[in-house]
Amino acid sequence: MNRWGPGFLPCSAGVSPAPARMSCRAIGGCVHQCRALALLFCVSLCVLAPLLHATQRRAPGDAAEDPAELELRNHVYASIPAPDAKGFQPMPAPKPGDLPAAQKESPQTLERYRLAARFRPTDERRTIVLQPLGPFDAEQAKLLEDLRDYAAAFFQLPARIEKPLPLEVAGSKLYRNVPLGHRHGTYDKQYDGNALMREILIPQLPKDALLYLGVTMADLYADAASEFAFGVASFTRRVGVYSLCRYYPEFTEMRRSPGDDVKALRRACKVLNHEAGHMLGITHCTFYRCSMNYSISLPELDATPVHYCPVCHRKLLWNIGFDPLKRFTALQEFYATHGMTEESEWIAGRLQRWQSVVATESVRKTQDE
Ligand SMILES: [Zn+2]
Ligand SMILES: [Zn+2]
Repeated sequence: MNRWGPGFLPCSAGVSPAPARMSCRAIGGCVHQCRALALLFCVSLCVLAPLLHATQRRAPGDAAEDPAELELRNHVYASIPAPDAKGFQPMPAPKPGDLPAAQKESPQTLERYRLAARFRPTDERRTIVLQPLGPFDAEQAKLLEDLRDYAAAFFQLPARIEKPLPLEVAGSKLYRNVPLGHRHGTYDKQYDGNALMREILIPQLPKDALLYLGVTMADLYADAASEFAFGVASFTRRVGVYSLCRYYPEFTEMRRSPGDDVKALRRACKVLNHEAGHMLGITHCTFYRCSMNYSISLPELDATPVHYCPVCHRKLLWNIGFDPLKRFTALQEFYATHGMTEESEWIAGRLQRWQSVVATESVRKTQDE
């Protein structure tokens, strides 16, 4: 079991053999947190301006979705101004056979998030610190620099890279041996993400770090039941760790193809903003197709957008208090200069639409409170 309890959230973890068992472990932190807030939520129901977004309402009658949650979801959709929701796809209603009800994540509205968020930037503690763990070659080091720049643009906070630390601690075994299968021969060890946080990151947490994010080229796992994990993050300790190794074809001994470097960067950006989102208290998004969606495999990760949806964006906006126009501009420049053409064009459109969104009551409330 996870010795760190419900505050730790191993996510995006490939697990075998039983999905139900995986899901319980993978999302336990979210469920715990949201249940604790259920009563408070009753008196803090959405205060955002109700601009009805009729096309995004879900039909009742799906046996897998609790009627109260359905109502809550539709209330949230109705609170998002149409220009803000444009370009985002609502999450489909859960189908019978998806997660068992006891293991589902409760929707985290902005109001629930405000009550749950533990960490916000202060004058003394506002830097996103990337901590390389283990060796990086020149190409991988360049990816790390790109990620630092991406973190600064995405969160509108200072970001820096610490000096690398080894993937070892005297007296502790931080990995397990795994069969190679289709893996490249250098990946016969898989590191315990929780152990890396406990043994390396938490003891060295820099004073100015709002978030301290270990990045490694080693493969990770989250707990004994998980086959692998893209990343593991803590809700309670401001630390997380994630791996870049599975983003490259060499991991499974495939040859490089044109565009693979951009694909690797895109995947790394998604997992960085996802894990860092968890560290800021944002749970898996159940409202829209969004970078905060839960994903269990590389194809699922690839199908997930790099962007935060309007709901998750408002959480970040409330937490950090950035200028959205400045942020969208910085992201557009980052995507354009790093070959992420589709994302660059998409965010340029969002930048334009935000001009009309910014005048609405809902955004003013988000920024003011
Ligand atoms: Zn996650
Ligand atoms: Zn979202």
